[in-house]
Amino acid sequence: MKILIINAGSSSLKYQFMESEGGQVFAKGLCERIGIDGRLTHKVPGREDVKQEIPMPTHNEAIQAVLDIMVDPAKGVIASTDEIAAVGHRVLHGGMAFTQSCIIDDACIEAIKKCIPLGPLHNPANLMGIEACQKIMPKTPQVAVFDTAFHMTMPPKAYIYAIPYEYYEKDDVRRYGFHGTSHRYVSARAIDMLGNPEHSKVICCHLGNGSSLSAVVDGKCADTTMGLGPLAGFPMGTRSGDVDATILEYLMGRYGYDIKEMLNILNKKSGVLGISGVSSDFRDLDDAAAKGNERAQLALDKFIYEVKKFIGAYASAMGGVDAIVFTAGIGENSVEMREQICQGLEYLGAKMDTEKNKVRGKETDVSADGSKVKIFVIPTNEELMIAMDTAALCGK
Ligand code: ADP
Repeated sequence: MKILIINAGSSSLKYQFMESEGGQVFAKGLCERIGIDGRLTHKVPGREDVKQEIPMPTHNEAIQAVLDIMVDPAKGVIASTDEIAAVGHRVLHGGMAFTQSCIIDDACIEAIKKCIPLGPLHNPANLMGIEACQKIMPKTPQVAVFDTAFHMTMPPKAYIYAIPYEYYEKDDVRRYGFHGTSHRYVSARAIDMLGNPEHSKVICCHLGNGSSLSAVVDGKCADTTMGLGPLAGFPMGTRSGDVDATILEYLMGRYGYDIKEMLNILNKKSGVLGISGVSSDFRDLDDAAAKGNERAQLALDKFIYEVKKFIGAYASAMGGVDAIVFTAGIGENSVEMREQICQGLEYLGAKMDTEKNKVRGKETDVSADGSKVKIFVIPTNEELMIAMDTAALCGK
C-alpha cells in the first residue's frame, strides 16, 4: 500500500510517501516555519530537490502544500491524491492508553488529547497534523503510531518510580520511554539476524540527537532509559539525561531560575553541548577533541561511559545478552563511538571486529568471529514501521 507518513511538530512537518511492502520511498520532504511564513523542501529520489516559499499560517496549508506538490505534473509523484491509500502519523506520547498503533477516530483523538499533559510540546503539534489531514483528505484512513507504545510491555519494577505510589495511581507518573518505533524496528531486525531463536535478549542503543537504550526480551521491551519524558537516561546532544534532583533546587536557589528556565537548561543547554561548550553534534566534538580540546574529550568520554554503564545494567537485568545493536545518527555512522563503547565489553562475551566495524549506515554484523554476543549496526527505519502498521490496520 502507498502510505503518506506525517511527523508534525509545532512549526515544522516532515513527510514521506512510501510503499509499505519493501519500503520504497517515492518522495519525502519538510515544511518549515509553519505559523511564521512557510518553506517547503521536497525530495524525489533521482531528481533535484525542490525548495519553495509557500504561506503556511497553519498546519492545514502545510498539508495542502504537500498534497499539491505530490500531484504536480512536473515535481510530483502521483496523478491524484486518491493514490494515497492511508496516512500514518507519528505521535509522541500515548500514555498508558496506547500499547500499539491505532486507527484514528474520535475516541483515539480524545485519548491523544488526554495525553497532552504528558507530552505538552509534541502531542498538540501531532494533533494539528492529524486534524489538518482529516480536514483536507476526509476519506483517507489515518493511523497513529506512538513513540511510547513499544515500551508498554515493561514490567512494573522497571516502570515504577520510587516516589509515593499515589502519583502513579492518580497522575500516571511512570517510566514510558521514547524512540519506541525505532527500538521495535531494530530489535526485530536483530532477532531476525540472530536466526529468529525462540528466546532472545537484545540491547538496542539508539544514539542520535536524542538517545536511549532499551532492553528487549523475546521481542518485548523490558526496560528503557528515557522516562516520563525524553529528558531521562544518559547525556544526549543537549539534554542532561538523569540528574540528581537536588541540583535543580541548588541552582534555582543560587540563580533564581524558575522551573521553566531550569528545564530549558537541562533540555537545551546540557548533554555533550553543556559539558564541552563546543557543540551538540558529535562530529564537531570529534574534531575539537582531535585538536586537543579537553572538554570536548570529556563530553565524549562521559557519553561513552554512561552508554557502557547502561549496557552492563541491562545485561545484568536480563541475565545475559545475545545482541547489542547500534542505530540512529551516531550509532549508524560513528565508527569510533561504537568501537569505544564496545571496548572492555569482552567480559560480557561481546567482542567487536574493528575492521568489520568500519561501516556507515549499512546493516552489518560487526562482531568478531567467535564473539558470544553479536554486535550489529542496523540503520533504523521508523517510517517503514509506521507505513507497515498503517497498512496492516487499514488493509483489513
Ligand atoms: P535525531 O535524533 O534528530 O533523529 P539523528 O539520529 O539523525 O538525530 O542523529 C543526529 C546526530 O548524529 C548528529 O547530531 C551527530 O551528532 C550524529 N552523527 C551523524 N553522523 C555522524 C558521524 N559520522 N560521526 C559522528 N556522529 C555523527
